[in-house]
Amino acid sequence: MTVVTRFAPSPTGFLHLGGLRTALYNWLYARKMGGQFLLRIEDTDRERHNEAGVAQILEALEWIGITPDQDPVYQSQRGDIYADYFQRLKDQGLIYPAFETKEELDAMRQKAMAEKRPAVYDRSALSLSEDEVQSKIAAGVPHVWRFKVPDGDTVVPDLLMGGDECRFANTQIGDFAITRPGTADDPLQVLYNFVVTVDDALMGITHVIRGVEHLGNAAKQTLLYKAWGLESPKFCHLPLILKEGKKMSKRDEEADPRFPVSVTTRRDLGYLSAATANYVALLGWSSPDENELFELDALVQNFDLDRLSKSNANFDEDKYLHVNGWHIRQRSNADLVVLLKPYFDDAGYDSSAPWLEKAVHLVKERCDLLFEFVDALSYFYEAPKDYEEKGVNKFFKTDISQNILSTVRDRIAGLDSFNPETLEDLLHKTVEDLGLKFGKFGPVIRLALTGRMQSPGLAEVMDILGQDETLTRLDAAVSYITEHDLGAVA
Ligand code: GLU
Repeated sequence: MTVVTRFAPSPTGFLHLGGLRTALYNWLYARKMGGQFLLRIEDTDRERHNEAGVAQILEALEWIGITPDQDPVYQSQRGDIYADYFQRLKDQGLIYPAFETKEELDAMRQKAMAEKRPAVYDRSALSLSEDEVQSKIAAGVPHVWRFKVPDGDTVVPDLLMGGDECRFANTQIGDFAITRPGTADDPLQVLYNFVVTVDDALMGITHVIRGVEHLGNAAKQTLLYKAWGLESPKFCHLPLILKEGKKMSKRDEEADPRFPVSVTTRRDLGYLSAATANYVALLGWSSPDENELFELDALVQNFDLDRLSKSNANFDEDKYLHVNGWHIRQRSNADLVVLLKPYFDDAGYDSSAPWLEKAVHLVKERCDLLFEFVDALSYFYEAPKDYEEKGVNKFFKTDISQNILSTVRDRIAGLDSFNPETLEDLLHKTVEDLGLKFGKFGPVIRLALTGRMQSPGLAEVMDILGQDETLTRLDAAVSYITEHDLGAVA
């Protein structure tokens, strides 16, 4: 059997990380099994769906590297197929029209709940005579079509959930609507459970992997498969993703914009696509060898449904960041420069600077997000306008700071060959000659060159700045100390 999976988003907005997990698992499983991964756009609800939503979802999937094996299927273009399958149910007498208004249905639900009965449709419409039904339809009374659920239980063939979770008493399911009320120009408006079943069957889907919130729907879909005599796919309903103990939701983004739920917003913040796939894959799956760091192709090799967990997953921002840092460090300096371009463009920094790869190499151990490179490398683009105050107090406000800076300045000015090795030697020799510990010496130079108390090695920094710029910055620091009258203070 060739495995065929699908991702079936409703294009109501951006792709969120939970949706990505669903897409990813389906894609990984198809890839792993040498099968097919299909994409279906569930756009039957015209009020809520839009082109922009589709484009956003496709963009996010493409960024991760999830590509469907065939052109996406759009439900909005399959009206004829749905009409055919609707007719089959009608011909078999398995569906019936029901005319209750929303208010009547609400009252029915309230009554059922008060009487501690399942809040399902009470089949009132079945007591209408054929003539009554026909005259209501002829008069244009709005109605839905309901599936007449047979007696008994329904067991969802789920690979992950099991036992009682997958067994549903049909009386609890109730006669669910398969259409919403039609309009004159759009009489047959089929609903989710109906279209999904038709489509999954006709698209030859063998495995439906999706969130546990659809388990109840799977019971309805199982009934529909039976009604049409179609084979049901295997289901795999994934547990919830929790954030701080609650179901992760779009509201988390509003609460803290640093941690967006939208996949493309994570991209804009400097998360890598491979890291995002890697971290999201861990939200419910683990590798047999407990390794948690994977490139995308390694995920494909290692992924399997039998390593899925039934327990809810906890979304851990620190871990996502850690995984992102690991992926950053797996990338070559040249690749990172390409990835950094949009962030550098935004900051007005030239990402084609010939020294940028070298500079990236110096800071990549410390950057867990791409945008952090902008700040980490800013002093290569701009001389310090100011110096870190703590550093000024500790290292400029001394009676040796000017001497340190001038000595290094003069020796660098006389250097014939300017490279990290000669600079390293020069610095070591100067410390020795001045009779200082490096801890009193290095920070003075660092502050002068970068304005900061922390940076990569001084020789590497100088090498990238170049001889002239290094001299300019050392001079500027001497002037700063003089102008602010700092140097004489012991
Ligand atoms: N359009 C549905 C959703 O976005 C698909 C659910 C399913 O996979 O069947 O939730």
